[in-house]
Amino acid sequence: MFLYIFLFVFLVKELWDLILTLWNKKYSTSPRVKIPEVFKDRISEEDFEKSKNYLIDRTNLEVISHIIDIILSIILILLGFPYFEKLVSSLSKSYILQGLLFFGIFGLINFLVSLPFSIYSTFVIEERYGFNTTTPKVFITDIIKSIIISIILGVPILSLLLWIIEADPNWWWKFALVIIVFEIFISWLYPMFIAPLFNKFYPLEDEELRNKILSLLEKAKFKISNIFVMDASRRTKKVNAYLTGIGNSRRVVLFDTILSYTHDEILAVLAHELGHHVKKHIPKILTLSILFYIAYIYFVFLIYKSPLISQTFNVEKNFSLMVYSFIFISSIAYFINPIINAFSRKFEYSADKFSKELLGTEEPLISSLKRLVKENLANLNPLPLYRIWHYSHPSPEERILALKKE
Ligand SMILES: [Zn+2]
Repeated sequence: MFLYIFLFVFLVKELWDLILTLWNKKYSTSPRVKIPEVFKDRISEEDFEKSKNYLIDRTNLEVISHIIDIILSIILILLGFPYFEKLVSSLSKSYILQGLLFFGIFGLINFLVSLPFSIYSTFVIEERYGFNTTTPKVFITDIIKSIIISIILGVPILSLLLWIIEADPNWWWKFALVIIVFEIFISWLYPMFIAPLFNKFYPLEDEELRNKILSLLEKAKFKISNIFVMDASRRTKKVNAYLTGIGNSRRVVLFDTILSYTHDEILAVLAHELGHHVKKHIPKILTLSILFYIAYIYFVFLIYKSPLISQTFNVEKNFSLMVYSFIFISSIAYFINPIINAFSRKFEYSADKFSKELLGTEEPLISSLKRLVKENLANLNPLPLYRIWHYSHPSPEERILALKKE
């Protein structure tokens, strides 16, 4: 009976996601949708057609990749995991090593299955729309670096977690604690030590812009000297800016691709990022995700502890029980996605508002949003339900309308 419940929950989640993706494509590219009023001054019919085609190409690839993922997951759930459990048990006597091999095989399969899609996405689709600047050499070295980092960071943390669930039958709170500490550690480590392995970060060279930024920071009463330009252009022509890190690793990062924007536009984007800082969005998000992890791991623990998994799937090792419990609970947890995104969108509105207040005008932020939409070929008419489900930011149209209103 539990088998049917398990597969039902898993498939409902996957199919719902698939339907939402296809529905969004149909909605956004229907001949009935028009260029929203606020974009009419910047976006031509030609741009609009191009952005619709881009959405179609990306969605089609995503759907094929997703269907393959679903089939593969079902094979793993019914046959693969029990088989690999026996295989790793015959390879080593050490429980930790068995667990590491088990997850290693799983990771390798995932990597091999997603590789062709990643290649197609970068060198065919992104290339077709003129975004791609990744060379095969960069692509391959990125993969090698990612694998090495995953091993360096993954093996110790996974060994520790495997040890905890083996040593303590009441492991859930220790498990949660380790995950939370690790998450905070990575937030600190990432901008200082991991991101620089993939990109060069350098201080802003433009003296005039630098001074403008410094006086903006002063006006916001904010002490942060870490403003970096990142050579994003070695992989893509897309434009972005973000805020990252905690403690002494906090920094604002501008893609070098944004430097062609006017100073006012850059300052407006920067002021938005500063808004996240000043309004303490990062610790708030962190607190939320900690609460989420604790609840999540507790539910995984409840399923794990029950005899349901071992009876249904014919597995006995702790790491296999964990995998099934995680798949089951994450299928359910997927349905709280809209709640998490609703929080995130609220923060985005408040950062936009901060930018407007700090600069005393909404014009440059609106202008940069329009450019971002045009240059990144963003979807101009996302399906409302898709937006609620997947968008961590309000749509650019919503942001512009909110900026004009307040
Ligand atoms: Zn933001």
